[in-house]
Amino acid sequence: MKYYDSNCIFCKIAHGEIKAYKIYEDDHVIAFLDTNPKSMGHALVIPKKHYDNFLNVDKAIMHRVYDVAQKIGQADMVALGAVGINVLTNCYEPAGQTVMHFHVHVIPRYINNERHQIDMKNDIDDKNLPAIVTKIQQYIK
Ligand code: 5GP
Ligand code: ZN
Repeated sequence: MKYYDSNCIFCKIAHGEIKAYKIYEDDHVIAFLDTNPKSMGHALVIPKKHYDNFLNVDKAIMHRVYDVAQKIGQADMVALGAVGINVLTNCYEPAGQTVMHFHVHVIPRYINNERHQIDMKNDIDDKNLPAIVTKIQQYIK
């Protein structure tokens, strides 16, 4: 497992080689504002070590990252007057991941910015829920 990828922009931010608007840092985790914010205060929480995404990050590190995401979300509600928060992570390009270093988005939501909501409204026609349950359960380790 490589913990620093010299081609990775978030590794460079974690090591102070590229500037970022940092809002939190400890031994393992750093959080900073997204340069293309989806809302005021949109933050990214990352491990300092390089892992490609949520699906292959070390579990203890993942827990630390989500712990910080929760702290930031709680702060956003008070400090920025957010009325809701989206916490999300994208895994691989088909899901919208553009930076291949595990990161969690913390996106504060405000009154009257409905147009920025993530689209969770549309569902699929063929749901087939029992068959899907059986398939997934076979592979949960
Ligand atoms: P993804 O699409 O991979 O889930 O999210 C990557 C995020 O990183 C995007 O929202 C993008 O705006 C942000 N981003 C990309 N490059 C930089 C950078 O150099 N600095 C900061 N602060 N954010 C970045
Ligand atoms: Zn990296």
